[in-house]
Amino acid sequence: MNFAYEKPRTFDALLAVLSEHGSRACLLAGGTDLLVRLRARTMSTELVIDVKGVEDLHVVDHRSDGSIVLGAAVVANRIVDDQRFRPAHQGLAQAASQIATYAIRNRATLAGNIANASPCADSVPPLCVMGAEVEVASVRGVRRLKLPDYIKGVRNTARRPDELISFVRIPPLGKGTRTFFRKHQRVRGHDLALANAALLHDPENQGLRLAIGACSPAPVVLDLHDLFGFLDAEEAAKRAMAAITPITDVRASAEYRIDMTGVLVRRLFADLKAA
Ligand SMILES: Cc1cc2nc3c(=O)[nH]c(=O)nc-3n(C[C@H](O)[C@H](O)[C@H](O)COP(=O)(O)OP(=O)(O)OC[C@H]3O[C@@H](n4cnc5c(N)ncnc54)[C@H](O)[C@@H]3O)c2cc1C
Repeated sequence: MNFAYEKPRTFDALLAVLSEHGSRACLLAGGTDLLVRLRARTMSTELVIDVKGVEDLHVVDHRSDGSIVLGAAVVANRIVDDQRFRPAHQGLAQAASQIATYAIRNRATLAGNIANASPCADSVPPLCVMGAEVEVASVRGVRRLKLPDYIKGVRNTARRPDELISFVRIPPLGKGTRTFFRKHQRVRGHDLALANAALLHDPENQGLRLAIGACSPAPVVLDLHDLFGFLDAEEAAKRAMAAITPITDVRASAEYRIDMTGVLVRRLFADLKAA
């Protein structure tokens, strides 16, 4: 397959080339999803635009107000290796550490994981419970979307053809917040999730949130603040199992996914109680 390749060195140049080519182009970050699809010819493009040439997009900025800004070129292993993601943001570090293999995590970006809009993307549930926003930019300006609103369905996002994810923004979390991630897969080692889930517990704001992945076209986020006082794992599991709409595929049946979601939720509550 023939396509042109461009690697702009400034953010403005990146936006300009994307604006010029729009839907005839596609963005490349780590390439761990994109190159697989291009090689398999399940998609085609006239131009691949590499975002990694823009230095600003490699930033991991832990701000003094407690918020975190992650550039679109930040790879999973940088989250895993950065101790500042513990304990409050531990759920994201746990998820990042379970994406594929070590070598792939050196290439795979969080932005690519989100933009790919695969239901089993591991970074998405923890980012959802933390209230993360996706910043999308184009020559027309910038807009921010809450993560669940950015993902519309399988391989379907709110991104317009001339836009790219520039940054992922995690807001300040309440004092004492803990987050946890769990994933169920067919085999030990690396495999895509047949169900994954994240839990946030925020004692300062009495917040309790759960997000489930791989069991619906888009992530399912549940506000469980009414369970904050009791930490009722059984009730949380019941609600999660009722909220998801899994499919049967090569990895698991819908019934198994529902059962495993219940198991993951109970394990997340056990993690919280043990912390
Ligand atoms: C063997 C293997 C195992 C894997 N295992 C897992 C796993 O366990 N868990 C998991 O979650 N994923 C897994 N993946 C999928 C993949 O590694 C991740 O989704 C990864 O985070 C994608 O990031 P990337 O930087 O490689 O994205 P790319 O492949 O570069 O891009 C992915 C998609 O996002 C678009 N895109 C990239 N950057 C932007 C941007 N800034 N703005 C808008 N759109 C953009 C691209 O055009 C493309 O459509 C696996 C992949 C492989 C090959």
